[in-house]
Amino acid sequence: MGNAAMTSKALMIEDNDQNRYLLRFILEQHDFVVVEATTGMEGLELARSESPDFILLDIQLPGMDGVEVARRLRQEQIIAASVPIIAVTSFAMAGDRERFLEAGCDGYIEKPIDPDTIISEIRAIIGGGDLASD
Ligand code: MN
Repeated sequence: MGNAAMTSKALMIEDNDQNRYLLRFILEQHDFVVVEATTGMEGLELARSESPDFILLDIQLPGMDGVEVARRLRQEQIIAASVPIIAVTSFAMAGDRERFLEAGCDGYIEKPIDPDTIISEIRAIIGGGDLASD
């Protein structure tokens, strides 16, 4: 592949239209490919069928919440253990970080989403600037 930038596929599981729009816009600007799910169940299905390189997981979802989605992704081995799950949440209270990590998340990003920092926050969690070009 030479020096060609590798394309990284993000699965975004997010029920809020504005957040999905914003995240897709920013990710695509940085050459990520984006697959969207609006519910936890749809997210599990797309995680299985799309083989994402990482997952952005809203915690506050209708029905199955993000913690349960993370738990199922890991317990049912729907994704490889090496695929990072990033919790995205506006209500990180004491103990939440541990709860997300225990469920199988690799880190979390706080809402509101900051367009100036979210890419570096994602890269810090997924581990490397070589997953997508600048
Ligand atoms: Mn939500």
